[in-house]
Amino acid sequence: MILTLQCYRCGIDYEYVGASPHPGQCPACGSPCVPPAGSLNVLNSTHWESANGLSKVWVYGLDEQNRPFEFEVAGKGNRGKLVALRVDGVSVDLKVDETLEKLPPAVRSELVDAGIERVETGLHKQSK
Ligand SMILES: [Zn+2]
Repeated sequence: MILTLQCYRCGIDYEYVGASPHPGQCPACGSPCVPPAGSLNVLNSTHWESANGLSKVWVYGLDEQNRPFEFEVAGKGNRGKLVALRVDGVSVDLKVDETLEKLPPAVRSELVDAGIERVETGLHKQSK
């Protein structure tokens, strides 16, 4: 299989050819801040909600290379926005990566459980 991946750290696009999961490391800069290898398994999630309808959800998971991923989403009603992502303890610049447009399905379903049905990643301006 061929995967097109983007490093969260240096922003380079690269292809990985081979059996999944991919090695979880950028070939250009060596950073582990690349998209989840294989599927992400959610270990834990925390949901906080204030009386005025604002909420925060943190989802922790491990990918198939045992790299920890931590997603932080700020919500209002049923809409949310990805505000932070840490991979292997390193904060990621959310503006770098377009693959974040699609949150891993396991993360998305945790958010739906917390009442957040639509998540913006803030990467693209809405054109519609
Ligand atoms: Zn890189």
